[in-house]
Amino acid sequence: MGPLGLIDGRVIDLDEKIVRMEDRGHQFGDGAYEVTKVYNGKLFAYEPHLARLERSLQELRIPLEYSMIDLVRFHELLIEKSEIKEGNIYLQVTRGTAPRVHNFPGTVKSCLTMSIRPSGSNTELREKGVKAITVPDERWLRCDIKSLNLLGNVLAKQQAKEAGFYEAILVRDGYLTEGSSSNFYAIKDGEIWTHPVNNLILNGITRKIVIDIARSLNIKVIETPFTVEFAQSCDETFLTSTTNEVMPVIGVGSKKINNGIVGPVTRKLQQAYTNKVDTECQWVG
Ligand code: PMP
Repeated sequence: MGPLGLIDGRVIDLDEKIVRMEDRGHQFGDGAYEVTKVYNGKLFAYEPHLARLERSLQELRIPLEYSMIDLVRFHELLIEKSEIKEGNIYLQVTRGTAPRVHNFPGTVKSCLTMSIRPSGSNTELREKGVKAITVPDERWLRCDIKSLNLLGNVLAKQQAKEAGFYEAILVRDGYLTEGSSSNFYAIKDGEIWTHPVNNLILNGITRKIVIDIARSLNIKVIETPFTVEFAQSCDETFLTSTTNEVMPVIGVGSKKINNGIVGPVTRKLQQAYTNKVDTECQWVG
């Protein structure tokens, strides 16, 4: 078995043609999504992911046809049927299918689709670190909603890729907000700086886990916006996301961070994150 899809509770081949012409996700990006990680055949941190999905859908006023228990069942069904042990599960809910007008359709059922794929290994990148470019944050003002509309993120990531960088760190009004698909952090004098949770960033599930880990290790975390120049003057920088975990950033724009070497605080956080995953997703005999 391998990658699989699921629509409204039914497991399907990923190639199956299921998108309706007038699905509002297809036509407007009218929906929300989540990405959850599978380690050792087990779902990691699914509760906060599903809670964030519920919040995104509430903010978008999209009713979900399924309970949270159903959603957990669908995740487990995909893991079981695909036999994937290390993977990513993608889930999206669109407002549903209706004749194309901007305003919400009267009565329409939202549409749930999901997929599971094996996760590619980025162990080597996590070992050596990656470089990030800074680009203007051109997204809308509700970046706290995990909306299907990702054009600002897509264009920023492509700009990074074309310039030979792994990630684009976004800059709004002179301050770094987050990465195009990650949260961003700078470490100075042993203290971690990161943008506060508000409408300008996605409240990353990995962000919360890593901040909790840092505080449990007595590392101070300062949730305040900072500039590109501040980040470039820091001892270490890193980014987090479900798929990247704790990814060291060893260059910001043209400036090397810590001479291009991954620093000790980032290493400590990486190790603690791996320990947490191992503990939560261990084999039970
Ligand atoms: N910010 C953005 C814009 C993202 O796309 C992501 C990844 N989904 C994150 C932050 C990190 O969120 P999480 O840790 O929940 O994956």
